Amino acid sequence: SWSSSESVISTDSAGDTAEPGSPYRVVLLGASGVGKTAFARIFAGAADSMDSDDCELCGDDVCEKEIEVDGEPATITLLDTWEAETGRGCAQEHDMQAGDAYLLLYSVTDRASFLRASELRITLRRFSPAQHTPIILVGNKCDLVRRREVSVSEGRDCAAVFDCKFIETSAAMQHNVWEAFHGMVRQLRLRRDTKAA
Ligand code: GDP
Repeated sequence: SWSSSESVISTDSAGDTAEPGSPYRVVLLGASGVGKTAFARIFAGAADSMDSDDCELCGDDVCEKEIEVDGEPATITLLDTWEAETGRGCAQEHDMQAGDAYLLLYSVTDRASFLRASELRITLRRFSPAQHTPIILVGNKCDLVRRREVSVSEGRDCAAVFDCKFIETSAAMQHNVWEAFHGMVRQLRLRRDTKAA
């Protein structure tokens, strides 16, 4: 499924040249500890097999992979971000301009990470000028039922306010993680088709 001809990650403006088959750049955003690395590992296939040949880890936590959504192939370049303790502003601005779409993660067991997701959503609106950039608010760690601090309805309401989709996931149980990626691709396709029309 890995096409070597598409292994070079283009640095030009994302999305504008969105032909079918060109990679979609999806950025993982969220506070530290919410599960971004776990998401990236599942995407890379490392959770299934020790050597994930079907995904090229290009360093800088970038992974490109072709997946099938609704019977049609889609190539996703996944960018995992992290928040350095110091001087994070610069890297973050870069991340916020790098994506065609964003998975905005928080942990349902950590209210501070939920508030952080709201802040990131606001910053994203500022730095990502393109209208209708697909964003999914992802409440991860829903397996930790007794440690839950953020209810499903709070997550859903927040997504409604911020005009984005919402899903709860458990990277630990591999629950809904692929659904989040598939939902992202569906939104990107809708946007592409709207643009083409
Ligand atoms: P990151 O800092 O956002 O990259 O977070 P990590 O992916 O490193 O996850 C932080 C910790 O949370 C690790 O110990 C993970 O194993 C754990 N973790 C991530 N996702 C889940 C989840 O869905 N459920 C549970 N129970 N633990 C999780």
